[in-house]
Amino acid sequence: MTHWLDHISAHALEDEKSAVAHLLYRAGALDALAEPVAARAGKLIENQRSRGAGNTVESFLQSYGLSTKEGIAMMCLAEALLRIPDATTADQLIEDTFSTGDWKKHLGQSDSTLVNASTWALMLTGSVLELDKGESLTSWFGGLIKRSGEPVIRQALRAGMKFLGTQFVMGETVDAAISNAKKDEQRGYVMSYDILGEGARTDAQAMGYVNSYLAGIRDIAAAATETELFARPGISIKLSALHPRYSITQHDRVFAELMPRLKDIIREAVKHNISVALDAEEASRLELQLEVYKALIEDPEFADFGGIGFVLQAYQKRAIYVAEALVELARTNKRRLPVRLVKGAYWDSEIKYAQIMGLSGYPVFTRKPHTDLSYIACADVLLSNTQSIYPQFATHNATTVAKMIEIAAHKRVPDSAYEFQRLHGMGETLHDQVVGTHRVRIYAPVGAHKDLLAYLIRRLLENGANSSFVHLLLDKETPISSLTVCPTELARQTGGLPSEHIPLPADIYGAKRKNPLGTEFGYRSLRLPFLKGVEAKFAALPTPPADAHEKDIPAIVARAHAAFAGWDNTPAHARAAILRRAGSLLDAHRDELLALLITEAKKTYSDAVSEVREAIDFCYYYANEAERVFAPEILAGPTGESNILTLHGRGPFLCISPWNFPLAIFIGQVVAALVAGNPVLAKPAEQTPRIAARAVALLHEAGVPTDALQLVCGQGETVGAALVNAPHIAGVCFTGSTAVAKLINRSLAAKDGPIVPLIAETGGLNAMIVDSSALLEQAVDDIILSAFGSAGQRCSSLRMLFVQHEVAHELRELLMGAMNELRIGDTRLLTTDIGAVIDREAQKHLLGHIDHMKRTARWTHSVRGHHLEGDTFVEPHVFGLDDPSELTEEVFGPVLHFFTYKAKDLNKTLARVAGSGYGLTFGLHTRLRGTIDEILGQIPAGNRYVNRSMTGAVVGVQPFGGEGLSGTGPKAGGPHYLLRFVTERTTTINTAAIGGNVELLA
Ligand SMILES: Cc1cc2nc3c(=O)[nH]c(=O)nc-3n(C[C@H](O)[C@H](O)[C@H](O)COP(=O)(O)OP(=O)(O)OC[C@H]3O[C@@H](n4cnc5c(N)ncnc54)[C@H](O)[C@@H]3O)c2cc1C
Repeated sequence: MTHWLDHISAHALEDEKSAVAHLLYRAGALDALAEPVAARAGKLIENQRSRGAGNTVESFLQSYGLSTKEGIAMMCLAEALLRIPDATTADQLIEDTFSTGDWKKHLGQSDSTLVNASTWALMLTGSVLELDKGESLTSWFGGLIKRSGEPVIRQALRAGMKFLGTQFVMGETVDAAISNAKKDEQRGYVMSYDILGEGARTDAQAMGYVNSYLAGIRDIAAAATETELFARPGISIKLSALHPRYSITQHDRVFAELMPRLKDIIREAVKHNISVALDAEEASRLELQLEVYKALIEDPEFADFGGIGFVLQAYQKRAIYVAEALVELARTNKRRLPVRLVKGAYWDSEIKYAQIMGLSGYPVFTRKPHTDLSYIACADVLLSNTQSIYPQFATHNATTVAKMIEIAAHKRVPDSAYEFQRLHGMGETLHDQVVGTHRVRIYAPVGAHKDLLAYLIRRLLENGANSSFVHLLLDKETPISSLTVCPTELARQTGGLPSEHIPLPADIYGAKRKNPLGTEFGYRSLRLPFLKGVEAKFAALPTPPADAHEKDIPAIVARAHAAFAGWDNTPAHARAAILRRAGSLLDAHRDELLALLITEAKKTYSDAVSEVREAIDFCYYYANEAERVFAPEILAGPTGESNILTLHGRGPFLCISPWNFPLAIFIGQVVAALVAGNPVLAKPAEQTPRIAARAVALLHEAGVPTDALQLVCGQGETVGAALVNAPHIAGVCFTGSTAVAKLINRSLAAKDGPIVPLIAETGGLNAMIVDSSALLEQAVDDIILSAFGSAGQRCSSLRMLFVQHEVAHELRELLMGAMNELRIGDTRLLTTDIGAVIDREAQKHLLGHIDHMKRTARWTHSVRGHHLEGDTFVEPHVFGLDDPSELTEEVFGPVLHFFTYKAKDLNKTLARVAGSGYGLTFGLHTRLRGTIDEILGQIPAGNRYVNRSMTGAVVGVQPFGGEGLSGTGPKAGGPHYLLRFVTERTTTINTAAIGGNVELLA
């Protein structure tokens, strides 16, 4: 049976050309309005230009375009300054900002960059700090520094940033906002207050937002004078603020926990006759938001209330289908629904996210005229159904405004049947021209300036882009006629083709290497078939392969040895072709591999998907690498002689892989060794033989001769050791603990015969530093993922967190709150965030460590599990400790050790991290560019990550591997890896010996 969302979801990642063709078919007839639209828009723009930018975002962008270094530096300052609690870090940020870029260019003449930059803040604070008549900013500021020193500069800049904030925030409290809004209300505007807050990380934060929404509704209603619902101010809310787990994987909690909170808000709104709009967020949340919205509209309790609004983003390929579904929902429920039509505020992050996730396409259009066309087509649907929909057109684009007015007039929709909306601090010069004839609502953010800045940055990014109307409006070089071109016309010119500058997610690595396909659970059209495919495989898992006997090892190795010459003589491009086939086969058997990873290795769905993608990627990457490095190299030398360097396999390679990446690391080692011309003996971890057996079967199916790749299962101490000690083993590739790597190294050293190379990737005591300039919410997301993702069983996992003293308390509270929201359980459920650890032995070891830490730590916090019976679960723990030396070895599980440091002791902290002897991964959260360089310069770690999580290295993008106690290198998935698996030969031929030196004589 089809579900109402199926039709919408089917278009989530639709091919752009066909999506545009459909929109042209739907909205093409509105071309007839092109002339009146251009005339109307032209007048609006002329008036806007004659009024100038004023004190708005437009003025900011006029001075600091986003394509300038100064614009970016200023955004960094704006984003971070107000939330930095300590003076030292704030000053570093200021210095950092002003050591970048050419501020003079913007601010006039001065020798001092700092003075110039600071005067910029003063320019903004014109109303805050008064200059004496005739005094220049520079001389005034120079004097100020002499008189007052640095703290004043800091204060001035903070005032500057606050002033920037006031351009976009209506007030820091609802009361202040109501009072500040009066001026606009007197000019005919209506308000929609947006109480700032999004993306709650903890329940406490979410409840805080819920309570501010409730109180906000009461305060707004108390001050409202009109009686008609839409003549009264309303509020806008974000569902992500109401619950820390507003995500499709937590569908049950969204309905059981978020929904009651939302209903409380709607109840309050009904009581006070205040409309509520549900803001649109990420594309992956659209379908969940629609489900929530439908439930509200169908709830008999709210049957008589017409004020629950939906926000629709036109940049999404599903937009037109959503518009139709909203009309249908209204009709079925005999309601008139307010729908705010926007273009969409998360465009750049949607593009990046789709690339990271390896989606089959983008959920958003990649050319602006396509979004504009979609906006028109959606508006057409909304304006054709004004008995069911109250359209609210939110835009700062004069041509879009003109188009809406002309479409409405053409359809004989009265001006009062729809409204326009703008953001506070933007679009004033445009909407001042509209507010006389139409209702115009101002979206008015309310909240503390420090919470506003993330919102501000989104506005600046969206409007500072070269394609943005606001950006072009201010550019006097852009003729008005080019701003009023009909998007339908432009979309016809592009033929609906996607932007040539934005490759599809599959093509981001270029033509020679496909980015393996991933998925996004937020899209029903992807999620349901995905789950069905994997669940079907749970029932039919293969039986584990038999272990080898120690006595069989010599024969196994001899077989590999015998296969060596044939395999090594197979041309590299033929071996590469086999790897590519293997990649495709892994892809084709994805469901089965996922089912195995989820059950045998206790991986969550999303970890399992990443792992299969990584395994496929290894095949494609090493295939390309082999073709690159195996090409014979002609060396320069004297005439009459040819000198050629060629690479060859070394002989049978033993690949010993771990259980924590039983497919990706297993495949990575094996295919690297194979493609370099070596027969392989693949010894998987004892815990995960079935996955290894499937991988080997697929490699054979792809064309690897069975003698060239043999699976050898069994205990490390017996089978593994016998393999290491066997004659003819020409190389060992090992991933696992440092202790076992050393053991292997010693065994190899003790062997007679040639010296056998060892490639070892071992563990790490991985650290992350969070300073006081970091955005704590972002840091907490990354800490949770890095420390507890995959139950902390990645070699890259975060073990030691160092937090700057001034923000440690706040971060700790956030971290504990976010931990409380994690779900531990059976990984066969999509709802599970963290599964069991691999086996009893690992569990026992971890519980022993936790017991010990409980006795020594200053404080501790743990996640309470939901289904902890019957499997090897370990509740994620964090321990507050004083001294990092309490931790001497890697603890391979969901246990995080939390330390604080004082800014002045940063170098000591770094020395401790570096002094551990390990050097695998390292994370840093800071907004200070200078600090990034300084810290990274002191940390010897193979993989360093700044302002992101520190796990999830991607093949060819973040080649993986450490130094010191963490491994020998070279890095897996990197350009130097294959070279360790080969031997080099040069061949010199005296060409002059046969027939003289023809080359020279010719
Ligand atoms: C009152 C109000 C409420 C809002 N609420 C929300 C909300 O809940 N959720 C939300 O997401 N946004 C919201 N917005 C923001 C809105 O999405 C942006 O302000 C809007 O996209 C800017 O569009 P414009 O018509 O003013 O400008 P234009 O310059 O005409 O359009 C810019 C927009 O075009 C799109 N675009 C830019 N480049 C490309 C490209 N290469 N390919 C495809 N598309 C492109 C992007 O959406 C970009 O924001 C709201 C805006 C207002 C005014």
